Amino acid sequence: MELKVDLGERSYPIYIGEGILDDIVDLFNKHRISKLSPILLVTDDQVAEFHLDKVLELLLKGGFQVVSSIIPAGEKSKSIAQFEDLITVAIESGLDRKSTVVALGGGVVGDLAGYVAASYMRGIAFVQIPTTILAHDSSVGGKVAVNHPLAKNIIGAFHQPELVLYDIATLRTLPERQIKAGLSEVIKHGFIRDADFVAWIDHNAYKLLELDSEALEFALYHGCRIKSIIVSQDERENNLRAILNLGHTIGHALEAVAKYNGLLHGEAISIGMVGAARLSVLLGNPEHIYTETKRILRKLGLPIQLPKQLDIDEIMVAMMHDKKFDSGRMTFIIPTEIGEVEISNQVTLEQVSQVLEQLKQ
Ligand code: NAD
Ligand code: ZN
Repeated sequence: MELKVDLGERSYPIYIGEGILDDIVDLFNKHRISKLSPILLVTDDQVAEFHLDKVLELLLKGGFQVVSSIIPAGEKSKSIAQFEDLITVAIESGLDRKSTVVALGGGVVGDLAGYVAASYMRGIAFVQIPTTILAHDSSVGGKVAVNHPLAKNIIGAFHQPELVLYDIATLRTLPERQIKAGLSEVIKHGFIRDADFVAWIDHNAYKLLELDSEALEFALYHGCRIKSIIVSQDERENNLRAILNLGHTIGHALEAVAKYNGLLHGEAISIGMVGAARLSVLLGNPEHIYTETKRILRKLGLPIQLPKQLDIDEIMVAMMHDKKFDSGRMTFIIPTEIGEVEISNQVTLEQVSQVLEQLKQ
């Protein structure tokens, strides 16, 4: 399947399919990835173990010059230090303006390598080969970044890739928890904009969890499609794009309080989406928004309650740190139906803390 992300002259295709990596040379040639300038291929040590040799071999056989750089797996690698190391490799390997940075990995590799591509010589070509389900989210929208010790994703840019190559086969080596966590962001896109897609996920949850090829292709295609429609309307997040943050206000605070230990991003977002649904009911929307959200997320094997050890006051502080709020009211993305959301700035701190209490039970 091929999906075009429509951004005027920055438009690009996402190729999704089982075994699509076998076509990497043809697709690189089609998209004029330079053979005369070195490619910097960035991956992490876990992904390298399973998928680097194949990609490297295909590209070298296809006549590309490739320098590969393997970073330690994990969020810690999204750092200025790691960014600087990659820039050093780029300079020492003679990357020039016609060079391309290729990210082979999940969102961490994609964000870091993308930021290298955005910065090196004020921007060179970038290609993404996502290897997690969650990275369907980062393969659309062009946000690239590294973290600062005081704030996540605070140093970054918008830099769209030339193309994205999403091979379902690479997902088969993912740990089970990462599969579920990735599906949390897939269904988020359904909850935001597409009730039919939510119903489809509900019916096909088991197939998705078993990594059925056709089901995954369909799910990733529609996850990317929904995000790309929203991003096309608001590339630089002036307003509409904020709806993509469904579940993220509570989710980010949970991640901060859990210090990223024991809670994956997708898991935190799952709990955050249940929280947003509960808030919705509190604001007068129908109860089934909450019960259905909870039921479907549970079916996907995702957490729907707050871990007991987390302190609600601490979560509230983290949330206030992360978000602007006006006279005791916060802005939240609130589901108004399954498949529809609104941006509400009417949520009170009391309502949020009440919902967090309920999520603990
Ligand atoms: P990740 O890249 O850390 O991958 C998760 C783990 O899975 C890592 O340990 C990795 O080594 C391993 N892994 C990856 N692919 C594998 C495979 N095929 N087989 C076996 N193991 C594999 O994390 P993620 O969940 O993909 O992404 C999270 C990051 O993405 C966060 O930093 C987040 O900020 C970012 N993100 C960015 C955007 C964006 O728009 N740019 C959107 C969503 C998330
Ligand atoms: Zn997210």
